[in-house]
Amino acid sequence: MQIKEIEVRENFDITNLTTFKVGGIVKRVYFPANQQEFVELLKTVKNPVVLGGCSNVIFSSQGYDGDVISTIKMDNISVRGTRIIAECGVRGPIASQTAYQSSLSGFEFMIGFPGTIGGNVFMNAGAHGQNISDTFERACLYDFKTKEIMYIEKDKMDFGYRHSLLQGGKYILLGAEFELKKAPQQEIKELMDRNLEFRKNIQPSLAYPNAGSVFKNPENDSAGRLLDKAGVKELCCDNVKVWEKHANFIVNTGNATSENVLEMIYKMYKTVKETYTIELEPEIRFIGKKSKREEEICKQLYKKTQK
Ligand SMILES: Cc1cc2nc3c(=O)[nH]c(=O)nc-3n(C[C@H](O)[C@H](O)[C@H](O)COP(=O)(O)OP(=O)(O)OC[C@H]3O[C@@H](n4cnc5c(N)ncnc54)[C@H](O)[C@@H]3O)c2cc1C
Repeated sequence: MQIKEIEVRENFDITNLTTFKVGGIVKRVYFPANQQEFVELLKTVKNPVVLGGCSNVIFSSQGYDGDVISTIKMDNISVRGTRIIAECGVRGPIASQTAYQSSLSGFEFMIGFPGTIGGNVFMNAGAHGQNISDTFERACLYDFKTKEIMYIEKDKMDFGYRHSLLQGGKYILLGAEFELKKAPQQEIKELMDRNLEFRKNIQPSLAYPNAGSVFKNPENDSAGRLLDKAGVKELCCDNVKVWEKHANFIVNTGNATSENVLEMIYKMYKTVKETYTIELEPEIRFIGKKSKREEEICKQLYKKTQK
């Protein structure tokens, strides 16, 4: 297959693909429609950044002078008995609905946030006592080193709290298989509704652009609790604010830049550090070209995690 047949946008403003509505111009964004196209791109494009729902990223307002591959058109999902097989670009809420329609329990937590299967496995996303690793059976991966497709089982995925093997950067998730449990549809629906209701009461909807929790929870504590007690809701930064009902969320109040967002995250981080001598780790990842100030802040914030 020729790369030129695959949908590509040049000098593409990625802002509207992100849930934060923060971003800039990307040299090229590819939209593969299936696994074959995706693998072709992974083999030929130099150092691609792979993104799914862009719901856990701050994309640089200075853009990115390279290639991004968006998986959002790879949305094939099927059910075989109690097994769900999903391409990496399937959105969590679609996976959740698909499971519900087949009376399968285990995906109820995914109803309330916009991540794709690829991003959710990368982050080992979770909520309401469920994690994607709970039902995960095996992954279909692309290996950058061998340039081959491979299958690996759950025990090799190095799942931990908001962590998976994928964060090492050697592999890309093409698709995954999950083993769910049969349950009465009514029970599944009730749980999905409860999860949605819980979010509605404390978290901002996407009408208030955001990227979910800013920081990971430290061991045996809650980042939201520490941030709240430290008083971060009072902090001010241009074009962003801490969500009044949950101190671990930042919303873009209009035309925020990536620097505005990072400044706010850094203020929150410093406030908690000064109050509790705890250094929170960001859950949100920074992508793209950094200004000098962004470079300085990222060096502090991502000491342990991102390069
Ligand atoms: C309103 C809101 C609520 C949220 N609530 C929760 C919650 O309750 N629990 C939770 O865990 N998260 C939550 N999030 C955060 C976010 O949705 C998750 O982290 C999600 O897993 C990110 O998925 P994504 O497809 O958007 O990934 P992206 O933001 O596109 O990417 C995130 C990372 O994953 C990598 N990646 C994406 N696809 C692939 C792939 N196919 N192979 C390899 N790497 C890949 C990217 O390179 C990037 O580093 C919330 C976000 C929002 C906006």
